[in-house]
Amino acid sequence: MANQVFYPGSTIGIIGGGQLGRMSAMAAAKLGYRVHILNPAPSSPAIEVSASVTVGSFDDEAALEEFASLCDVITFEFENISAQGLELLERLKPVRPAGQVLKISQDRILEKQSLEGIGVSVAPWKQVSSSHNLLALEEDIGFPLILKTTRFGYDGKGQFRVNNAEELRALTDLPYPLIAEKKIDFQRELSVMVVRGVDGTVRCFDAVENRHRDGILDITLAPAPVTPEIAQRAQDIATKIATRFDLVGILGVEFFQDAKGDLLVNEIAPRPHNSGHWTMDACLIDQFEMHIRAVTGIFLPTARRHSDAIMHNLIGPKDMEKVPSLLKKEGVSVHLYGKKEARPRRKMGHVNTIYPYGALPGELGLSQLSPDL
Ligand code: ADP
Ligand code: MG
Repeated sequence: MANQVFYPGSTIGIIGGGQLGRMSAMAAAKLGYRVHILNPAPSSPAIEVSASVTVGSFDDEAALEEFASLCDVITFEFENISAQGLELLERLKPVRPAGQVLKISQDRILEKQSLEGIGVSVAPWKQVSSSHNLLALEEDIGFPLILKTTRFGYDGKGQFRVNNAEELRALTDLPYPLIAEKKIDFQRELSVMVVRGVDGTVRCFDAVENRHRDGILDITLAPAPVTPEIAQRAQDIATKIATRFDLVGILGVEFFQDAKGDLLVNEIAPRPHNSGHWTMDACLIDQFEMHIRAVTGIFLPTARRHSDAIMHNLIGPKDMEKVPSLLKKEGVSVHLYGKKEARPRRKMGHVNTIYPYGALPGELGLSQLSPDL
């Protein structure tokens, strides 16, 4: 069952109904697959573009069983399904990526231990329990540091930045368990999307640079303005992680390039990733199709890019006001997630601006980084 191939016409189950599920479902439909969604609410970005849905919570056994009975192979766009829920599904149908890599990415402690266990560098870190003497962190890690919840963090949620002992002393009622991480004085943040098939084939998209605003991804530059050696090193690390963690599917690897130029892995996510959205317009086969190809076990073509790109996220009501004018721009591809309400900090869509291959990073591209796009 582990290497089973599911050809077009089969049904792919996706756990989660958000924008990553929506874009995965559209890629699946392009190849003639049916998509069945599991989502707690009856309407969502992915449900709108999928063949069918089971409405139920991610830990409702009856809902999980119904969902599994209607799919040939299962994947997820939502990472926080419980270990029990996942085990139940794995008994019923192939789940790709399989359990272990998801469990690793769900827990920052296991994630760091697993990465260090295969010789991948991460920021200096320490596990912090409620009985821990927080002030010892000054000695163990040094300032500035960041406290992060071990589970359920995204878009900078569940993080506390600490610059000195006074700020540390002022923290009360922290949501333990936590990890403390040294704040890295990075030159830039990079990421690589890596995909691995049932036969062990690995494909890496180009390394890109990500710039965040208020803890949320704002811009991706593809390719990253780094030397070919650094870009290759990032891809090599991503390949090692995918191979050693026995990934089947796609995985996003986030890096810090520190002041010395060394690469530290920040976190991994075994699913399509916001920092891979540029591939939708700059690669013949994008991250979503690559993900669908990997989970169904069919051929994985090259992940080569044919164009350079800058991806801007559209976040909250302010960015949505720009949509009418963005729709009139040449050289710009607009992607909207169909979310009804544009709340602040909510990802509503993204825009890819496309340049000829090799035009970035140059004055041309960087001068286009206008915040008003
Ligand atoms: P999330 O799950 O919210 O994406 P991350 O750990 O990726 O959590 O943190 C979000 C962002 O916060 C990172 O992309 C980076 O900009 C910043 N950040 C997180 N950890 C560190 C660190 N150790 N040093 C410097 N910046 C960090
Ligand atoms: Mg992150």
